[in-house]
Amino acid sequence: MLHVVWYKRDLRIHDHRPLQEAWREKEPILPLYVAEPSIWQGSELSIRHFQFVQESLEDLKGAFEKLGGSLFVTIGEMESVLHTIYESVGPFTLHAHEENGTPLTYERDKRVRQWMKVRGLLFHEYQHCGVVRGERSEELFKKDWKEFIGMPVLNAPDSIWTIDQENLPSTISTNMDALSRFKIGGSRIKYGQQGGEGLAHETLESFLDERFTRYKEELANPLASTNTCSRISPYLAWGNISMRQVVKRTKEALEQCDRSDDRKQLKAFNSKLEEHCRSIQWIEDHPSSVYTSGNPTFDQSREVWQEGFERWSKGETGLPMIDAAMRALIKTGWLNNRLRAMLLSFACHTLRMNWKEPADYLAGLFVDYEPGIHYKQVHSVVSPESIKRGRLYDPVKEGKKYDPEGRFVRQYVPELKHVPDSYIHEPWKYDGFFHLEYYGPIVDVGRANRNVKARIAEVENKGEGSEKKKAVKEEDEQIVFDLFTE
Ligand SMILES: Cc1cc2nc3c(=O)[nH]c(=O)nc-3n(C[C@H](O)[C@H](O)[C@H](O)COP(=O)(O)OP(=O)(O)OC[C@H]3O[C@@H](n4cnc5c(N)ncnc54)[C@H](O)[C@@H]3O)c2cc1C
Repeated sequence: MLHVVWYKRDLRIHDHRPLQEAWREKEPILPLYVAEPSIWQGSELSIRHFQFVQESLEDLKGAFEKLGGSLFVTIGEMESVLHTIYESVGPFTLHAHEENGTPLTYERDKRVRQWMKVRGLLFHEYQHCGVVRGERSEELFKKDWKEFIGMPVLNAPDSIWTIDQENLPSTISTNMDALSRFKIGGSRIKYGQQGGEGLAHETLESFLDERFTRYKEELANPLASTNTCSRISPYLAWGNISMRQVVKRTKEALEQCDRSDDRKQLKAFNSKLEEHCRSIQWIEDHPSSVYTSGNPTFDQSREVWQEGFERWSKGETGLPMIDAAMRALIKTGWLNNRLRAMLLSFACHTLRMNWKEPADYLAGLFVDYEPGIHYKQVHSVVSPESIKRGRLYDPVKEGKKYDPEGRFVRQYVPELKHVPDSYIHEPWKYDGFFHLEYYGPIVDVGRANRNVKARIAEVENKGEGSEKKKAVKEEDEQIVFDLFTE
């Protein structure tokens, strides 16, 4: 019987349980990637994600060929692809990792399960990154995660027997170019990280060998963090490397460390890895968070503001740190954690835009887009439970603290190249501002943020007198007026 290995966000050959289990059967395998329009088109996914997937598939194709087999690709909805396989080769068994993503992928998996069940075919799904289907308490998650991560890393098969092309319908092909017909929105990336299992391991090794030594200190530094952070995120998000492999190599590196500072850096990195999986468990428990706000109280004071969104999304707000961060993201597909939070906070708190459009726009730009991490972080920024927990940023202060000489700003906002350091984060105060080809600030950040704080305080002290609420509302209206007349 044929064993179909369904590749999704797990584009690798090592430590790949579905492939291992299929291989153990000693029967022909069909390793298959399906580009599904209902998952990719009209969602937050974009062409730069698909670009990364295509690069990963090219790499995977090479790996299969080395083992004497082939990788197959096609475009279509999963159930109809399974139908064409069934019609040409008869019964088969399906193997795949569970995908812990958005309601779209969850529903698709349910439909596939049903399709297989109705025909009496076996569908084996395997746990991915230590996350368990269904709600999980923190203690249970920790226990399961440790157990899962502690299991041995699976080697790649030493040779592979894949089905011959002539036994399959012509729509399922070994030619990766077939995927270039698949049309998705968004912007391609020219200077970002590229997909592939080899590159994933190179990136991890270069981090564990030398780049990690200033991991903690430079986490928020816009330029240095591009090198001192691990940059493993897109490889984890698209499964070019497994979480178990990353944790295992980090532990080995920790054991070889004799300097206590080096150990601290690696421990900080290691704790982020666990957080990665915890976030994916979180979306498994809260799938609706992709569409609904964690704290709807704030939604009432937010609105659609098309002009504001246009300026924010192109990096034309006149706030140098916001514009540099957005332009860097458009160009490279990556930002450090703090810059990501600052961009979102600016859109949803300072400019009071509805959270969903900015959040999905950012998801489309982050090459490492991982729904669980992304929406958990989004809600922690846009739906704070209290002022203390809120993440409200002042981009001028951020710039002065993390980019004091304006090196990051000058790199991505060349209009400000010749502005003196002392004005680089507030160019509108510079007396040569009107000779610059740059935008006036879209908002008075100080005032707008004071209002946000008042609004959050209001939420915290809900039952308080209406006088305070009225004052906040009036000041809000004043700011909106300023925004539109800027
Ligand atoms: C609004 C917002 C959206 C984000 N969206 C994503 C996303 O879609 N995909 C994504 O991988 N990260 C996301 N992050 C978290 C973080 O910014 C990135 O993981 C990090 O910048 C990736 O770079 P790195 O691999 O060099 O990270 P490192 O600092 O080297 O961390 C190593 C790994 O730990 C995990 N990690 C790091 N920070 C976090 C975190 N806060 N929560 C959970 N896991 C974490 C990631 O897998 C990361 O690759 C988001 C953060 C914010 C504020």
